[in-house]
Amino acid sequence: MAKKPVSSTDKKTPAKKSATSTTTASKEKISSKQTKPPQIKKTASKKTTTTRPVSKKKPSSRPVAAKARSTAKVATSATKKAIPDSTVATPETVKAPSQPQSVHVEEPLPVDKSNLHETPTPAPDHPTDLFIVHITPEIAPIAKVGGLADVVFGLTQELAIRGNHVEVILPKYDNMRYDQIMDLQPVYEDLMVPWYEEEIHCTVYFGFVYNRKCFFIEPHSNDNFFNRGSIYGFEDDVLRYAFFSRAAMEFLWKSGKHPDIIHCHDWQTSLVPVYLYELYQRLGMTHPRVCLTIHNFQHQGITGGELLRATGLHQPEHFFDYHRMSDNNHPNALNLLKAGIVYSNFVTTVSPRYAHETKDQGQGFGLEPTLHTHHIKYGGVLNGIDYDVWNPEVDEQIPTCYSVETIEGKYDNKRALRQRLMLADNEKPIVAFIGRLDPQKGLDLVRHAIFYCLEQGAQFVLLGSSPDQAINNDFWGLKDMLNESPDCHLEIGFDETLAHLIYAGADMMLVPSRFEPCGLTQLISLRYATIPVARSVGGLADTIFDKDHSNRPLHERNGYLFDNYDQDGLESALGRALACYYNHPEDFRELMKNAMNSDYSWNIPGRDYLNIYDYIREK
Ligand code: ADP
Repeated sequence: MAKKPVSSTDKKTPAKKSATSTTTASKEKISSKQTKPPQIKKTASKKTTTTRPVSKKKPSSRPVAAKARSTAKVATSATKKAIPDSTVATPETVKAPSQPQSVHVEEPLPVDKSNLHETPTPAPDHPTDLFIVHITPEIAPIAKVGGLADVVFGLTQELAIRGNHVEVILPKYDNMRYDQIMDLQPVYEDLMVPWYEEEIHCTVYFGFVYNRKCFFIEPHSNDNFFNRGSIYGFEDDVLRYAFFSRAAMEFLWKSGKHPDIIHCHDWQTSLVPVYLYELYQRLGMTHPRVCLTIHNFQHQGITGGELLRATGLHQPEHFFDYHRMSDNNHPNALNLLKAGIVYSNFVTTVSPRYAHETKDQGQGFGLEPTLHTHHIKYGGVLNGIDYDVWNPEVDEQIPTCYSVETIEGKYDNKRALRQRLMLADNEKPIVAFIGRLDPQKGLDLVRHAIFYCLEQGAQFVLLGSSPDQAINNDFWGLKDMLNESPDCHLEIGFDETLAHLIYAGADMMLVPSRFEPCGLTQLISLRYATIPVARSVGGLADTIFDKDHSNRPLHERNGYLFDNYDQDGLESALGRALACYYNHPEDFRELMKNAMNSDYSWNIPGRDYLNIYDYIREK
């Protein structure tokens, strides 16, 4: 069969088979050693029934692009300057697109491993002692669907060790890992949250998730918003999270918390800045500024006008305005993610490349014009990973720990992985895939890679699951078909412990995504000296440097990339990786060391986010 032409990184080297080889006050601190939850005092003067605002006029203080300046590198302290209030923009006035910008522009720092697990010393110009509240639908490991959960877990810790007071608010799901929450107890019994023409009674709990201070909101209503056995996948998801966002704001307001920064995540909490600027600011909550992080543009929370009645926002003529919440392609629908972009003071996505792809390369799922309008407050901050959790030197979930100096320890884990999955013990490399079984992840290429690997003398391990039963069934069919193969194992499900063993035991990690906002699997793989073979998109392109085609110095090259989303592209990279493994084991080992030496801790992103907070906060 004739092969299609391949792009620069898609040059194939065929693999050769080898047979041998709280509080009422705003900033009350809770020490990380504290085991008692903060007691929330209710303020009588702020009764819910009297504070159910319905917006009639435009608020005097506008939310949008509140301190945006037209600088490149906006989040670097070197370029940071105050601007006069006259530049404060409104949804209507922020329009003109100009030069693209990226928040995270620096090259990754060379690794200084001695510092990786120590508390970083903030640079003198970094703000410390900020009060930062993350409002989020997920946090690892107790409520995790994907990378968002890991990001909230890692970033909150990094912000705290840099001297800030950090709290997290999330729904109290029935299916959380309650065994991983310490000292969970109710701290606010009667939070009444406006909803339609009535109020829903909520209880707020407090508990520690590995030292992170977390508040959990539990509504008591027949809607049964968060007692459904799983986190997402329900017809009323938009209303569930619209309610949660409202409840989180009501909790901040009623408990007298006035954070410097509210950081929200994805469409699920994109209404937070809308509530803040349209409802709560006029009640006196004028201090907080909002940073929104978009982990994936694919899901936007698109809904109808009923949302306005449910949430008490009302005013359809106001919110259906193109410059506020109406969906760019369906003017009769509201788009929550768009609202988040319009109303937040700063919007990040999770890699500089994805920031560019979403704004300028058609990857914004219809939000490109909105990103252009608000380009001045938009940028990419690369995710980090938590090296306390993902670190083969101390990982308690793998049989043998190893470091760059004892890298051969990895092969004990390879043996253990084979035993666990009943794979043949032979000289073959193990290629792995871990991820949600979502078309975004390049599932047709994953399927192709399985057969390609078996043909080319490699083993293949897959760990993944999908909320879509049809996709799961498809992979169950494949699993049945390959059941007898001693070189292949597909595990359909979510299994964190097995994930650790695969990261430690596999030789290569396949990430053939159609698009990838940041991607954590490749970052974790690098840490475990498991060489990523990935498509050159989004955060994958920002973090993987091709062994043969990168313009980086040799010691920074850490994987294999391909450009074209097709089988030839995939084979070009996978073939080169397998050939190197078999024919140039010394080179492969160098690559493994380079991978382990890459620094994708939260150190740099933590600093970047603090720069953003400093940039937008009320001073
Ligand atoms: P996304 O957020 O798009 O799902 P990321 O690469 O950013 O993808 O993050 C995926 C995270 O979820 C990684 O920590 C990965 O190890 C984990 N993960 C994904 N699927 C599974 C699974 N089936 N079992 C265990 N962990 C999984």
